Amino acid sequence: MIILGDTLLNDSTLEADLAVVGAGPAGIAVALEVAAQGFNVILAESGYERANADAQRLAEAQTWMNQVHAPMSHSVRRQLGGTSTIWGGRCVPYDRIDFENRDYISTVTWPVTYDELLPYHQRACDWLSCGRALSTQHVWSTYLVLSSPGSRMVR
Ligand SMILES: Cc1cc2nc3c(=O)[nH]c(=O)nc-3n(C[C@H](O)[C@H](O)[C@H](O)COP(=O)(O)OP(=O)(O)OC[C@H]3O[C@@H](n4cnc5c(N)ncnc54)[C@H](O)[C@@H]3O)c2cc1C
Repeated sequence: MIILGDTLLNDSTLEADLAVVGAGPAGIAVALEVAAQGFNVILAESGYERANADAQRLAEAQTWMNQVHAPMSHSVRRQLGGTSTIWGGRCVPYDRIDFENRDYISTVTWPVTYDELLPYHQRACDWLSCGRALSTQHVWSTYLVLSSPGSRMVR
């Protein structure tokens, strides 16, 4: 059931076993997975079902490096589906190096390791209906073999 926040009184209280904030791909998957276990889940979304300028303004940044980064309205979406409403549809698994500390990126470290996430890659692919979970290494080695001179496409 979808309840529009506009229709709720200011001091209303909604009760559930779990409240998930943000109906992007991550929030939707978490909410549906937990609801499938029989729990009551509230998925709270700041945007509407479709793009809305007032909701989108919540994502604006006060400052950003406009020489190297697109405006926030091109980078995140405040609506049901979150930023996946503007994504390209490419599904690529993380690489091991994505989880390693690199001074030139950030001092923030991942709270999980690559190996801990690995068993869930197929489940993520199932959510996105994007077939088998293949490692980047597997994809590239296959691609390089298939694209090398004299190779034949074999299924
Ligand atoms: C142009 C573009 C193309 C992309 N293409 C791809 C691609 O091809 N493949 C790929 O894997 N990734 C792609 N991405 C990245 C992908 O869209 C994001 O990684 C993904 O959407 C992140 O999911 P999320 O659920 O964590 O966050 P988001 O999708 O950002 O969702 C967050 C949600 O939370 C809501 N929210 C935020 N704060 C609050 C609050 N306080 N209260 C209530 N709700 C709140 C927002 O409104 C939003 O709906 C692309 C991104 C962009 C910008």
